[in-house]
Amino acid sequence: MQKDIRAGFPFFPANPGIVYLDSAATSLKPQGVIDALTKYNARESVNIHRGVYRLSQRATDTVETVRKKAAEFVSDAAESTAVFTKGTTDSFNLLAHTLTSAKSDIKDFFPAYTSAKPAAILLSDSEHHANIVPWQIFAAERGYKIFFIPVDGDGNFAPPENFLEDISASHTVRIISLSLQSNVTGIIHDLAPYRTFAAETGAVFIIDAAQAVIHAPETIKALNPDFVCYSAHKLFGATGVGVLVGRKPVLDNCDVYQGGGGMIALVEREKSTYLEAPAKFEAGTQAVGEIYAFGAALDFAGENQSAIHSTDNDLRHYADERLQAAGIRVFGLSAKSRSPIYSFEIPGVHAHDTGTLLDEQDICVRAGHHCCQLLMRSLGVPATARASFLFYNTRDDVDRLIDGIGYVKKIFRK
Ligand code: PLP
Repeated sequence: MQKDIRAGFPFFPANPGIVYLDSAATSLKPQGVIDALTKYNARESVNIHRGVYRLSQRATDTVETVRKKAAEFVSDAAESTAVFTKGTTDSFNLLAHTLTSAKSDIKDFFPAYTSAKPAAILLSDSEHHANIVPWQIFAAERGYKIFFIPVDGDGNFAPPENFLEDISASHTVRIISLSLQSNVTGIIHDLAPYRTFAAETGAVFIIDAAQAVIHAPETIKALNPDFVCYSAHKLFGATGVGVLVGRKPVLDNCDVYQGGGGMIALVEREKSTYLEAPAKFEAGTQAVGEIYAFGAALDFAGENQSAIHSTDNDLRHYADERLQAAGIRVFGLSAKSRSPIYSFEIPGVHAHDTGTLLDEQDICVRAGHHCCQLLMRSLGVPATARASFLFYNTRDDVDRLIDGIGYVKKIFRK
């Protein structure tokens, strides 16, 4: 079964003997995704939305079909649409600008925007920098304060008692933006209390789905967020494209982000008017070939959802047991819900040395702060090594990792 899965990924024959454990950074690409990218570049390489000729119209139709699929993959909400962006990071920059802009008129959708109290944004200490820095860029100058849900030494949310009530005494939280799944520990956080709070107070509820989109798409849907951000390249797709999914009527009332061709209704010397969403957020030529590939990636992920789920469960149980017995510190094991992404520390060995020595054993893991410096502080380490598994990985890969860790310990005499 696993052999058949691997047969669909040209990476494996091209890199014999390599154990790829870095899918949380980017997933491998199946042949169908590569073919879709090639199809565009080789045979249908025309621009979209501008041509009156049939080839351009066909390419436009393909892109619009992918848009619909990308929205439906994470949302059942009526009127959901997807804005194409460069990826999760770009989606957050768009959101951070528009949701704090005085030019966005979204009071009717989110009553928290009508409160006279000082405005606040709620994030957590577990967030990727993509879901922190864009908010910081706009928060101070637009009068927003940022609050963070604290995290314990294992990566779980650990808010003090009455956390939300205490914030609400002095501020109105207008925006809650949280990652459903940590890219460091694999923890799938329980976001339900924050979703409920947003619904009760009229705040915007956003999910960073960069990791969860491949491991827990149904949980994203069940939480019914107002916005979802994710990248194609962590979901079998190409780099350079992702989406911001939200409801069209809300997006229609949001301030534009970047200006240029493709997003305007009328340009005059003094001012311009804009198209409706999603076009008003898509200035310039899109990554058309990568969007074709995104469509193939969404189809592939959809068809393989139950296989991804069952491999996640199998590898997690096996790897949990083997890693726990390996005499190392593994983060996140106390969480109720996780998928097989492991951050670990070999006591007395720097994460970069671990990564380099594992590479000597042909094992690809990530080492560093994983763009989560606040989380590193909560975990009490400057960096970790991270092994992330996906459904093309096997129990043999877990065994190779354990042997590799044994080799690192031997070199360092630990
Ligand atoms: N959020 C999370 C949880 C991530 O894991 C990542 C990437 O690792 C991002 C955001 C940023 O994604 P991208 O680099 O594709 O924009």
